[in-house]
Parts: sequence; C-alpha cells; structure tokens
Amino acid sequence: QYGQMMDQPLLISSLIKHAEQYHGDGEIVSRQNDGAIFRYTWADAARRTRQLANALLDIGVSPGDCVGTMAWNAYRHLETYYAISGIGAICHTVNHRLFIDQIDYIVNHAEDRVLLFDISFLTLAEQLAPALPNIHTWILMGSREQMPVDTRLNNLLCYEDLVGSHSDRFEWPQFDERTASSLCYTSGTTGHPKGVLYSHRSTVLHALASSLPDAFDLSAQSCVLPVVPMFHVNGWGIPYSAALNGAKLVLPGNRLDGASIYQLIEEEEVNLAAGVPTVWLNLLQHCENNRLRLHPLRRVVVGGSAVPDSMTEHMSEHGVELRQLWGMTEVSPCGTMSTPKFKHRSGGVPALRKIQATQGRPLFGVEMRIVDGAGQPLPHDGVAFGNLQVRGPWVLSQYFKRERDASHTDDGWFNTGDVAKLDADGYMRITDRTKDVIKSGGEWISSIELENILMGHPAIAEAAAVGVSHPKWDERPVMVVVLKPGMRASREELLQFYEGKIAKWWTPDDVLFVEELPHTATGKLQKVKLRERLRDHQWP
Ligand code: ADP
Repeated sequence: QYGQMMDQPLLISSLIKHAEQYHGDGEIVSRQNDGAIFRYTWADAARRTRQLANALLDIGVSPGDCVGTMAWNAYRHLETYYAISGIGAICHTVNHRLFIDQIDYIVNHAEDRVLLFDISFLTLAEQLAPALPNIHTWILMGSREQMPVDTRLNNLLCYEDLVGSHSDRFEWPQFDERTASSLCYTSGTTGHPKGVLYSHRSTVLHALASSLPDAFDLSAQSCVLPVVPMFHVNGWGIPYSAALNGAKLVLPGNRLDGASIYQLIEEEEVNLAAGVPTVWLNLLQHCENNRLRLHPLRRVVVGGSAVPDSMTEHMSEHGVELRQLWGMTEVSPCGTMSTPKFKHRSGGVPALRKIQATQGRPLFGVEMRIVDGAGQPLPHDGVAFGNLQVRGPWVLSQYFKRERDASHTDDGWFNTGDVAKLDADGYMRITDRTKDVIKSGGEWISSIELENILMGHPAIAEAAAVGVSHPKWDERPVMVVVLKPGMRASREELLQFYEGKIAKWWTPDDVLFVEELPHTATGKLQKVKLRERLRDHQWP
C-alpha cells in the first residue's frame, strides 16, 4: 500500500518559484565585468527566467536538448540555469579554462545546440565556432550596445533583446523528476573529459541536504558568496540552495582576487562564502598585507583540494569558522563536511581543530566505505586506509554516453579515486588522490600531509609534494614551494620544520623554490606537470 501524500516531482523550477513567492524582495548582487555592481531581487530573476524560457522555446530549444553556457558567476548565468532546466532542457556549463580542443570535445560530445556566452568570451567563441557544427544559435549574454558589429559567429543573438521581447507569462512544465537537468564534465588529467549528467531529483535533494545546519547552514538569514565557479559542479549547488532558502546571493563575476572578494564581503555583508583553498589564501594574504579584518563573514566552506591547518587558524583569528567540504563533480559535489558533534563540545578549540582537519563526515544521503586493493571493505577505525567508495541519490551512476566501467563496482558503489581513512564517527581523512600518493620503499607517504605541514611555515605561500622516482626507494618526496612575497627560507630550514611532526622516513628529500605552481582549470595543483619537470631530478 502506498502512502497517501501528494506525489509532486522534485523539479528545479520549484526552487525559483519558491524564492519568488516567499523571498521576492531578497537581493541578488552581481559584479559585472567592468567592476560595477548590478542589483536586483529573486522576483526580478524569476520574471526574467520565465522570459528567457519563452525565448529559448521560441528559438527552437526542445526538452532534452543540451544548451551550453560559458560564463562567470553572474545574474544572467543564474537565469540561464533556471530557464534551461526549467523547460526540460539540459544546462551544460562549459569550463572555459580548459584547453580549446577539450572544449571542442565536450561541446560536440554533449551535442549542444545553443551556446550562451559572456561577452568576455566572444573571441573564444569565435575561435571555437569552426569546430562546433551542431551549434545553430549563439547568444551573447549582454545588451544591444555590447553586440559586436562584425562577427564570425553565425546566427548570433543578443540576450537582452531575447529576454526583453518575450512575455514573462510562463507555466513551468511538470515532468518526471529523474529527467536530466544539467551536465558538467570533469577536467580529467588523462584521456577525454567525462560528463556527469545530473537530474532534477538529484539537484533538489542535494540542495536540501547541503543547506542543513551541519552542512552549509544556509537560511533566509544568509548572505552567501559562491566564489566557486558556476561552470564547475554548478557552483557547489549554491545557485539552487540559495533559492531554496531565500538567501541573499552575491555573485563575484570575473574578479576573484583578494581585494575584490574582500570588498564584496564588507560591502554586501556576506556571512557565508564558499570556494577552493587558493581563493582564501589570496584573501587572507590581502587582509594581512593591508591589516584588514573580515567583519561580517561568519563561515567559509572550503573544498576541492586539501585545506591547510594554517588556513583554519587564520580564519579563526578573523572570527570565521572554516568548514571543510569534500566533494567531486561525480557527487554533485557535496559528500562530507567537517562539522563537530555535540560530544566534541567539551574538548574546546583543540577538539574542534582536529575535526576541521578532517574532510568531514557524510551528509545524510551519502554512504561511504574504504576497500583494499582486492575490493574488500576495510574497518572504519581511523587507522586503515584504502580506496574511498561512495553511493547515494546524488552520486553518479554512470558517465554520460559511456558504458559502466571500473569507475563503479558490481555492487553499485562509485570509486572516487581518493585514498582515505574513515573513523567510527564517519569522519574521513584523505591521504591522497590515488595518482598522487608517494610510494617509497613499498609504503605510502601522504602528499597532502607533507603539504599541510609546510603550509604552517610562516614563509610559505604554497607547497606541493611530489613523488620523484628514486634509484633505491622507488619514489621519494620532493617539495616544490612558493615563498610569500619578501620572505626567505632555506632548504635546510624547511626540511627541519618537519622534525617531530611526522615519521622520519616521511621527511622530504629535497625542496625546490619556484615563482609559481601550476594549477588545473579548477584551481587544483597540477602535479602531472610537476612530476614531468622533476623527472630528471638530481638527488642532493
Ligand atoms: P575534477 O574531477 O575536475 O578534478 P573535482 O572537483 O570533481 O574536479 O575533484 C574532486 C577531487 O578533489 C576529489 O576526488 C578529491 O581528490 C579532491 N578534493 C575535494 N575536496 C577535497 C578536500 N576537502 N580535501 C582534499 N581533497 C579534496
């Protein structure tokens, strides 16, 4: 016997409808490319989203079609998120920082029919166009005055003209909640990028779960700043969860430097912000250089790569609670968050720091296990480490247009490619990406831990640990570091810094000083490049 409750599908359109109806005057603030601030409300956004929905249908977009976007975190991008998914089409956010041939590949692989792009990507769009035969319409996300007089793009339309010339009367269609809603490709360090196709159901459930107090703790009292890009894993779902909660939403546009982010936080009274570690390193550096304090900010959610303990400490000095998030494109992305439990209260700050140093414990909806090389489950005792596997309603079940492969186990778990420990309370600690572990004398050394320790040294701006092939030990760790401006540190001093903090044989064998470390399109350390550079390393 079924329950007798209404069987309403969980649709993305219901989020913006809710925001309009109950938080209509809630603000959305969006930094434009020229630095100026654009300001409107959830009611305005919802109205324009309906106009855009009418326009997209009018230019021939059908339910099920993929529509690409190349844009920053900005209000028009927010509108396209809701309009495309709302009509039953698929919003394919394209990461413009990928190599051109990777962009060609993913746009063709997704069979995007229409591509909306920010004005700053006009040249890129023109470069891409010859290799993208499926695109029948290009839309420049700007006003009439911003349209180029001369362009190589066929059928280029103006976003504001489209929106302005269509009615705001539109009833969002109701359909199966399992319908595909959006598509995001993982950058992938080898081979072609792989597509992750989200559904309305997975997106709404993820928005609900990630809002909870032990996750982002989002509410109508939040003013949230997603610095994490909307072209990467849907901005960690914040464009959806902000609407669900009626939060004030602050979109940083293309200015992600410390000074610009600082200004937005202060002027818009941002109390919750989210992004990858490098963004916060830059912000904290800006504060340090200019003797500034972060006043309104209460909480920052940091993930995407390992968070150094020193960052947690510095944020705390500003009165900001740092929550670590572990996630990945395949997990929508939120899997775990590092919030303490009631029982940790008595432990004070030291207990809290211990929790914050983990990648966190699973949100409701996410299950985790670790397995050994043979796929056998390992104990959750905080000691054993193995390959991390997850499952849940917002975890990928197979890659877009690919057969099910080794990324999934026969019993239905997704292989994350991370090596981790789990303790009895569910707190997870990543040792490494499988491909980044340093294998020395048959044992594993955690590159993340080596980096974390050195990041605590006052002269270090950024550090990467790389396993370099060694005649005797297979691999030995080498640190590649960037010093803070005006700071000095010797190789010996940095190596000594490890003393007493880790097992002696973990101590790196060498330190190299560089001006800058290579990062991926999503701000992660690009270790492949470093390994290549260190292939012929001369051991001291
Ligand atoms: P891509 O797959 O394009 O590199 P993802 O954002 O999907 O981008 O990357 C997910 C990976 O990032 C995870 O598998 C993990 O290795 C790493 N990661 C994410 N969050 C954390 C974290 N808090 N600490 C350490 N590593 C993290």
